[in-house]
Amino acid sequence: MTIAIPFDNSYARLPGGFYTAQAPQPVRAPRLVAFNTDLARLLGIAPGEVEEMAQVFAGNAVPQGAEPLAQLYSGHQFGNYNPQLGDGRAILLGEVLGSDGIRRDIQLKGAGRTPYSRGGDGRAWLGPVLREYVVSEAMAAFGIPTTRALAAVETGETVRRESALPGAVLTRVAQSHLRVGTFQVFAARGEIAYLKRLTDYAIARHYPETQGPMGLLAAVRDAQARLIAAWMGVGFIHGVMNTDNSSIAGETIDYGPCAFMDTYHPDTVYSSIDRYGRYAYSNQPDIAVWNLAQLATALIQQAEDKEAAVEEATEIVHAMPALLEREWLRVFAAKIGISAPRETDKPLVTDLLTRMAREQADFTNTFRTLGSDRARDHFTDPVAYDSWAADWRQRITQEAAPEAVMRSINPAFIPRNHRIEQMIAAAVEGDYTLFQRLNTVLARPYEDQPDHFDLTRPPTTSEIVPATFCG
Ligand code: AMP
Ligand code: MG
Ligand code: MG
Repeated sequence: MTIAIPFDNSYARLPGGFYTAQAPQPVRAPRLVAFNTDLARLLGIAPGEVEEMAQVFAGNAVPQGAEPLAQLYSGHQFGNYNPQLGDGRAILLGEVLGSDGIRRDIQLKGAGRTPYSRGGDGRAWLGPVLREYVVSEAMAAFGIPTTRALAAVETGETVRRESALPGAVLTRVAQSHLRVGTFQVFAARGEIAYLKRLTDYAIARHYPETQGPMGLLAAVRDAQARLIAAWMGVGFIHGVMNTDNSSIAGETIDYGPCAFMDTYHPDTVYSSIDRYGRYAYSNQPDIAVWNLAQLATALIQQAEDKEAAVEEATEIVHAMPALLEREWLRVFAAKIGISAPRETDKPLVTDLLTRMAREQADFTNTFRTLGSDRARDHFTDPVAYDSWAADWRQRITQEAAPEAVMRSINPAFIPRNHRIEQMIAAAVEGDYTLFQRLNTVLARPYEDQPDHFDLTRPPTTSEIVPATFCG
């Protein structure tokens, strides 16, 4: 083999109760359709021949040093506790230490059945694999914490969903795949020795400057508050913020029915399975608090003095809404050019958002063009913008460099849903041109690019994607 991955597998060194050793299931005819050279370099991976990489990233050949396993976890799905989930279609190959000193998991998603598959087939189809590839890489380019995409492989096999679809495997890279649900499973089972071991592991891996379960809880709270505020700032709707999809490292994880808003409205929901809007755009901060409360409940189980732990955990969780509010204001103030917001700036932001919702303004384009002649054109009644802009101009006379602040936080390009769907439809027909173009443009989302392949245009009525699916 010419491909070399410098594995160092700390999770595999944990006791067996944390996972099941499980090799990926080979596929019929793997074909490498994407490989992220820049990310490979960061991870210290020396790429091999294309044929061989197809074998490795399809799970047909286990590379030297890998110790494949499926991780155990549980979680609340739409508020209901599911006592056992686990990697039902993902295999952790192992970990590498990047040139930035950060340890990262290398995981194959869609690599076949595991003991945690329940009724599932262990597979993924090409659509969600390419969606996750493009969207997670765009997220990274925005500067928002996220899992990354290292490779995508077509399997040459068919996956049955509503119809027969081309199968694929995504190689996902994460600071870890520890979730709130990883703690929940051991807490719920009363396996306190495991819970303690996991707590120590998470602290050592992600938050070495903190101590003890409550230190971990506070660190996760801070990371999640920053993350959710950043999502809000780019109009991102995760779609399935279940506790098993809530990362301890504070990264965006599990791109299923996620989407970026075109027209701004706080109640926006895309996911076909989110019938009651639990995970609607504006509910995301509240859900993050709810998820943190579940982590608190799990972590408390290891305390000697339960009463004291409950008190301390309650305080930590109760501080999260104010923290989210502060992070949110920091992000949205910057989006209108204010670098150090005061409490009195909040009405200015919410006034704009109210007008945008009422006048059906495109979220991304409105912020990107604020202050220019074009901004008002995004509002059905442009006067709604003009009267807000008068107040706003007054406020930003006190700012040193409002333009620069705005350009560093308001992307010109987002992975618009209709373009993602068009990209998938083309790729299913074997045409990866749009996939490559989207990746190229979205790698530099804050730069004006003349050749952006129509990525600033909101969808026409017939292009609108009304719902997204898990895949
Ligand atoms: P998700 O909604 O993607 O977070 O997945 C929830 C759970 O279902 C996890 O335990 C997944 O591993 C599992 N799962 C999702 N899709 C499949 C599949 N096709 N086969 C087996 N397990 C799956
Ligand atoms: Mg998941
Ligand atoms: Mg998923």
